Amino acid sequence: MNNHAQQQPRYSGIATFMRCPYQPSLAEVDIALIGVPFDGGVTNRTGTRHGPREIRNQSSLMRSVNQTTGVAPFEMCRVADVGDALPESPFELEASHRSIQAFFEKVVSAGALPISAGGDHSISLPILRALAKDGPLALVHFDAHCDTGDNYLGSKFHHGSPFKIAVEEGLIDPHKTIQIGIRGSVNNSEIWRFSHDSGMRVIYMDEFYELGVQGVIDEIRQLVGDTPAYVTFDVDALDPAYAVGTGTPEVGGYSSFEALKMIRGLAGMNVVGGDVVEVSPPFDPTGSTALVGATVMFELICIAAQALEQRQKAALAEA
Ligand code: MN
Ligand code: MN
Repeated sequence: MNNHAQQQPRYSGIATFMRCPYQPSLAEVDIALIGVPFDGGVTNRTGTRHGPREIRNQSSLMRSVNQTTGVAPFEMCRVADVGDALPESPFELEASHRSIQAFFEKVVSAGALPISAGGDHSISLPILRALAKDGPLALVHFDAHCDTGDNYLGSKFHHGSPFKIAVEEGLIDPHKTIQIGIRGSVNNSEIWRFSHDSGMRVIYMDEFYELGVQGVIDEIRQLVGDTPAYVTFDVDALDPAYAVGTGTPEVGGYSSFEALKMIRGLAGMNVVGGDVVEVSPPFDPTGSTALVGATVMFELICIAAQALEQRQKAALAEA
């Protein structure tokens, strides 16, 4: 499979993630790029169902080598766009989550590592259900919000609660969960209490600036160690100056550069999957939020390729 020939002009052809081949059969795929066009869990401004299509479009600007780290993921692995995890009943939240889970289970059982573009943040829950088959995962969570909220207006499942439910279902280990960039006004000072009570490490923006990017990276690596880890990136983690096209923007976040640097800092960790969520094209008039989303996705692909290479080396050493 020719992964990234880039023979054609980037404005031509059918848009796939990173201009990778479209490979819905999942055959011979190491890293599966997946769209999850679902926003049935959004509590206020919708539109993230349009995220995957616009991220595919903007991802045509990505190139093949990471200039900072030198990682060339499309040479190291077989990376393909395997299509959308399109729910069968897209207007029913729990049924949608079941379809999304089933899609990711297929990807995992085909031996591919999933990197996806959402979708609202509720989609991380069915993804974790598909991935955490051998016990709880570590979670590296970039967001302005902890997303460990309670029932909201009578609904248990929404984009503000996936990680509370993930703990309750044993999908993530709260003691190996780190949430980075939390801020914003609240209606209730107890809103993120579950994060603290369950033992998650919560880095609010004030502390982010005290620690600095390297300090945060050090903490992530120390907390997670070699545990299989999932990386979830809510684009509202970024200051709206960098990513205005999202449903719940919060002023006072980190920059896109700081975010990319933090993701690069995860190189060598035992990454088993990742997502970029909450890109909402209707609020993104210039497409720049989708471009940030595509760039974060590229960085996730790079650390996933490094994790796969490391696993391969470890397997060879054992053999
Ligand atoms: Mn979120
Ligand atoms: Mn958020």
